[in-house]
Amino acid sequence: MQIKRIPVLSDNYIFLLYDQEQKIAAVVDPAEAQPVLDLLKELDLELVAIFNTHHHSDHVGGNQKLIQAFPNLCVYGGKEDKGRIPGQQVFLVEGDQVSFAGRSAEVFFIPGHTKAHIAYYFPPTETTGTGELFCGDTIFAGGCGRLFEGTPTQMVDSIGKLRQLPDNTRIWCAHEYTLGNLKFAVTVDPDNEILQQRFHQVQKARSQDEATVPSLLGLERQTNPFLRWDQPALQQTANSTDSVRVFAKIRGMKDQF
Ligand code: ZN
Ligand code: FE
Repeated sequence: MQIKRIPVLSDNYIFLLYDQEQKIAAVVDPAEAQPVLDLLKELDLELVAIFNTHHHSDHVGGNQKLIQAFPNLCVYGGKEDKGRIPGQQVFLVEGDQVSFAGRSAEVFFIPGHTKAHIAYYFPPTETTGTGELFCGDTIFAGGCGRLFEGTPTQMVDSIGKLRQLPDNTRIWCAHEYTLGNLKFAVTVDPDNEILQQRFHQVQKARSQDEATVPSLLGLERQTNPFLRWDQPALQQTANSTDSVRVFAKIRGMKDQF
């Protein structure tokens, strides 16, 4: 399985998963259809699945046109998103498995950004070495999604599940928000040297218009304030040792940043 990143809209990424031998592809969160159709044509692939993480229009906007172009494809999404994802056929819950091109992904139910949000995790294989996590707007490189429909308690629980995956899990998040996230992160975790290094690397990468997604979970655990509620530095910033309070405080500060 290979993965291609398609930048669309102002800062979204669509991910195309594909298998060159079988000539099939699946797409994660198609905000728009045309860039996906163009790439499918270029690579000569048939689209067999849409994996949606949640119902927001910048994640499902291309569903309808893709279904028209490939009427046999299957549209996957979370069970709680019933009625909100165009063309949804499969209603997934925690622990379900989905498969594509001989690989299977585990589904995580991760409410917080929305009440129905899910993630897809492909564990590493002997040949790849890395796992692949498609987490929509839940974990971002250096940040996390806003709480539109969920509570801090839910988000801590959701991120807590993802945070336990192996270090070598690639984080395929749906937006290029990394630079802005790290600008904030250094203000709440000021003595974190690995974070400082990352901030400089990302400033350089973005000044050269390079993508910073995917990120690695191991690096997120070391530098992303929204995965670090149990670290003394963040607890000090939030003036609490309670996980949910620390998270909620930092999230609130980011909302105002
Ligand atoms: Zn969203
Ligand atoms: Fe989004």
